[in-house]
Amino acid sequence: MVAGTDKGEALFTHPMFRKGTPTHLARRRQILDDVRKRFKLATSWYWSTVHYITSEQVSDATWEQIGNRCLECGGCSYMCPTCTCFTVTERQVGPADFERVRIWDACALGGFTRMAGGFNPRRAAHDRRNRRFFRKLAHYFIQRELSVACVGCGRCVEVCHGDIGMPNVVEIVRRTTAESERHEPAAS
Ligand code: SF4
Ligand code: SF4
Repeated sequence: MVAGTDKGEALFTHPMFRKGTPTHLARRRQILDDVRKRFKLATSWYWSTVHYITSEQVSDATWEQIGNRCLECGGCSYMCPTCTCFTVTERQVGPADFERVRIWDACALGGFTRMAGGFNPRRAAHDRRNRRFFRKLAHYFIQRELSVACVGCGRCVEVCHGDIGMPNVVEIVRRTTAESERHEPAAS
């Protein structure tokens, strides 16, 4: 392991980073086995959805179906351990004193992509949902970071009022895109 700072190097001396023992490995295997038993479906649709999103096969109608359920609260982004977007603003800290501060922002919110002149290339909620799930699931990120950007923590499931956390979006994208593939006329 290599840390980027002295603080990070110091953190590596913590017992949390010590090498695992055979007992740890056995415990890890046991936890994984227990978790697998809790899955109700043996089939994962995840990689079909990664493929559909990467190859831009997901229709506007599907994104609209997802976007129509988004209440634009921003909760999924604020809770997500892999969302890091922010904005910069000023606040008054004294009669004539101001400071520039960085605060969380979320791609779900209408102002996130609004430019200085007022133009907003992602005005509709479904365009913004499209962007978020592209950023989480596109194959481009697997090539660049060796992993999709979603770690599967489920926080967006817990917080979403519209029931469009990651698993439901994966299911909607996979089902609607597979259905439209089935109904496409065969190439002559
Ligand atoms: S399940 Fe994925 S998208 Fe949802 S909060 Fe966790 S890391 Fe983020
Ligand atoms: S938590 Fe759900 S409703 Fe809120 S912004 Fe995210 S997708 Fe939209």
